[in-house]
Amino acid sequence: MMQGRDWHEKAKCLNADPDMFYPMPNDWKTIVEAKLICASCPVSAECLEQALDGGEQYGIWGGLDPEERRTLLRRKRQRMRME
Ligand code: SF4
Repeated sequence: MMQGRDWHEKAKCLNADPDMFYPMPNDWKTIVEAKLICASCPVSAECLEQALDGGEQYGIWGGLDPEERRTLLRRKRQRMRME
């Protein structure tokens, strides 16, 4: 995993329309298109980590939409409680 903000330069979405990653909740076509870009992004782990650490409430980060990130965080917390 890359440290700091160096990973931004490797982002697959670097030249994509930023609005694509902040679609309306029911704009499935744009959501799928954005997630497809994320699926082949070499720094998706770094991107997702930044979103989780920063508590990002909006947008698609690391291929996950806000609801998916909330679910991931909930499961992580549950796992930590069980350890
Ligand atoms: S995972 Fe998606 S939103 Fe994050 S840097 Fe890569 S392409 Fe951009």
